[in-house]
Amino acid sequence: MADWEPVVGLEVHAHLKTRTKMFCRCELEYGAAENTHTCPVCLAHPGALPVANERAIEYTVKLGLALGCEIAAHAVFARKNYFYPDLPKGYQISQYEAPLCGHGSFALPRADGDHAIGIVRAHLEEDAAKTVHAGGATGRSVGADYSLVDFNRGGTPLLEIVTEPDLRSAEEAMWFLRLLRQTIVELGISDAEMEKGTLRADVNVSVRKRGEEGYRPRWEIKNMNSFTFVGRAIEAAIRQQVAAHEAGDEVEQSTYDYDADTDRLTVHRSKEEADDYRYFPEPDLVPVEPPPELVERLRSGLPELPALRIRRIEQAVGFESAVELVTTDRDDLYDRLVAAGVEPRVAYNAVMNEIAAAGVDFGAVVATELAKILVARDRLTRPIIAQAISVSADPGFTAEPFLEQEAVSDEAALEPVIDAVLAANPEQVETYRGGKEGVLGYLVGQVMRETQGKADPKTVNRLLRERLRG
Ligand code: ADP
Ligand code: MG
Ligand code: ZN
Repeated sequence: MADWEPVVGLEVHAHLKTRTKMFCRCELEYGAAENTHTCPVCLAHPGALPVANERAIEYTVKLGLALGCEIAAHAVFARKNYFYPDLPKGYQISQYEAPLCGHGSFALPRADGDHAIGIVRAHLEEDAAKTVHAGGATGRSVGADYSLVDFNRGGTPLLEIVTEPDLRSAEEAMWFLRLLRQTIVELGISDAEMEKGTLRADVNVSVRKRGEEGYRPRWEIKNMNSFTFVGRAIEAAIRQQVAAHEAGDEVEQSTYDYDADTDRLTVHRSKEEADDYRYFPEPDLVPVEPPPELVERLRSGLPELPALRIRRIEQAVGFESAVELVTTDRDDLYDRLVAAGVEPRVAYNAVMNEIAAAGVDFGAVVATELAKILVARDRLTRPIIAQAISVSADPGFTAEPFLEQEAVSDEAALEPVIDAVLAANPEQVETYRGGKEGVLGYLVGQVMRETQGKADPKTVNRLLRERLRG
């Protein structure tokens, strides 16, 4: 296995979160009753004319910019011809030779530096309707009694992102997919939820000998809808291809299905049966020509994206911790605490541990006030800190009442109490001096009681030991 290098490229589809469909004004509503959002355009009645959704075009340009793509001055919709019951037009409107975004590069942060993942293209197309296989046992087309089509999904705007074969392991492909997903979600252009089918990925896998130039034939595994299965399918392809190459068998370019039950890939169709879509420019739509002012406005409106935030935060807390903060959406609170004067490590620990455990709303935490508590944490007892954190997202939260309960570590204030406790417990003092140091805990407890729990236990411990020694 060690002398084989995996080569992976992804084709990712995300449903755009527009109000209406790609080429008509039907509303998009996830989970609506079947066939309630349809019209002559998305049902493909003859003569109905499509009109491109401008919001979908803006969303695609936004993502293209986030992926470092060039935005085409002139993009063209194309017909991709094929027959399927859930595609009543007999073709899907997509983009082919002139996509909206191309030639990008995504800097994937890794512990040992950025790995540039090339983006071949990011284009806009429409989704097909949804076929539901009913009757029979499996819910699959084979063995079903009949099939029904729900046209609500037909015409949903789909963003397709195609990477270069630049990913070098299953783990790296999954990391890329996760970060791409988070980028899409943060841009507000899609919910990108694999479980709901609003994010899907086709994975292309081949292997080659380390140091070898060029690529060997690939397998394409279609429509993966869980991160775990993406990883497992890639691992399975690597295993099966290495075994084939080593046995001297030919590995052909084919489409595969991943069977999660057996953790194996089975051939869907081979290259000889590959589709010929006979693409040609869509005559019913004008080319898309995004005005340069629009592109520049979208570019300057981009937020600081997750990959860059990982790089920035890494400087202060290290790579792994930065990844944890950003991928759990907790880095905003971390940033606000640090800006309010908390040391990065302390802020990281608080955010990932105590604050997370308290179950408070991260976005609502009054960071400037909580920062005062965290800065003073060495002078506060644990229960006081925990109490403060538990109400830190309440409106009007202030640090003041908690800071007033600062632990007393002032020796001048503690000494008289300690003297009094020692004088009141001569037996325990004897026992301690006789070598049984276990009674110290009892004496500390007495001091804490006398001070209503406000004494700093560490200081009390030290002062008692000094006094008993003398
Ligand atoms: P198609 O249009 O037939 O899908 P593309 O050339 O556009 O073919 O490639 C589709 C995907 O396959 C891309 O993500 C690309 O990175 C990936 N890919 C291409 N060649 C290989 C290879 N030899 N091994 C792994 N992935 C590959
Ligand atoms: Mg493809
Ligand atoms: Zn419609």
